[in-house]
Amino acid sequence: MSALIDSYGRRHKDLRVSLTDRCSLRCTYCMPHDFSDWLKSDHLLDTDELMSVISAAVSVGIEEIRLTGGEPLLRADIVDIVSRIAGLTNAPKLSLTTNGLKLKELAKSLADAGLERINVSLDTLRRDRFVALTHRDRIDDVFAGLEAALQAGLAPIKINSVLLRGINDDEAPALLKWAMSEGFSLRFIEQMPLDAGGIWDRTTMVTAQEMLASLSDHFELSPVPDRGSSPAEEFYIDGTIETVGIIASVTQPFCGACDRLRLTSDGQLRSCLFSLEEMDLRKVLRNPDLSNQEIAEEIADRFYKTVAGKLPGHGINDPSFIQPRRPMSAIGG
Ligand code: SAM
Ligand code: SF4
Repeated sequence: MSALIDSYGRRHKDLRVSLTDRCSLRCTYCMPHDFSDWLKSDHLLDTDELMSVISAAVSVGIEEIRLTGGEPLLRADIVDIVSRIAGLTNAPKLSLTTNGLKLKELAKSLADAGLERINVSLDTLRRDRFVALTHRDRIDDVFAGLEAALQAGLAPIKINSVLLRGINDDEAPALLKWAMSEGFSLRFIEQMPLDAGGIWDRTTMVTAQEMLASLSDHFELSPVPDRGSSPAEEFYIDGTIETVGIIASVTQPFCGACDRLRLTSDGQLRSCLFSLEEMDLRKVLRNPDLSNQEIAEEIADRFYKTVAGKLPGHGINDPSFIQPRRPMSAIGG
């Protein structure tokens, strides 16, 4: 089979797989505290359906899979999913993004099942701010989860932080000092127009430039050359080989090097976070007239079609930009 190369020459190797749109937190930049517009549970792919898609994805050249959501650790079959992906012939690199709340319980089983790396999202070190940002008093669970992940050998652990003006944007240096002291690698992410509540505002979002300025007051930062397909621009800290990343998805989009596709938990393949169109894989998986072989071939074909239709960029800074109907929690971040 040929590789997933789009009309702009980008080869797609990375698949983000959302396992659920449900979550145990309510981060303000992601979903409102009273959010209830969940996907229908009978639309979610079960483990076998998911594995059919992932096997087909690997057969067309996907080399890296990140499990996400919603909160992926809420899936009751999460350890089984990890184990089955890790057991595939030509198994892809496997990582997971989580809010960390269930890591204390699951980190060891996940590592034993074959999970290689995790990203944990944490926007503040302060309990009061954590409660304000997530509507849940669970910061101790995140710290306990991080400790369990370290014990389980899920290193290097990456921390994702979103900064919000007037809420935690003064905390960037403290977060970086903490991450360095714990041996975590930290990345700050610009807030994107993907929240379910429609609160994003370009005029108030904290920009990458502001993040860099705030960090530069406390650290000497120099750009790491050769970013490859990473969404983060990395900076060496104080002349060491330790780095901090900044993901400027809004102010400096990195679409030119994008190598990823996204699968929603209800079986829709997307070429971009901001796509307005999706390719329905669930319909193929549930077509009783198709044999397993025909399903595999049709899914592979839909991967090629999705890549063929990929746009050069997400157009977030164009006047014609339209926020997708699906929020980040239902796409998979
Ligand atoms: N629940 C898991 C977590 O929080 O890590 C995985 C899913 S979450 C959607 C993945 C990442 O997306 C998190 O790091 C979160 O901070 C980030 N995120 C969510 N909404 C965002 C937004 N509107 N703009 C930028 N990043 C966002
Ligand atoms: Fe949940 Fe992650 Fe969204 Fe926060 S960012 S509400 S943890 S899905």
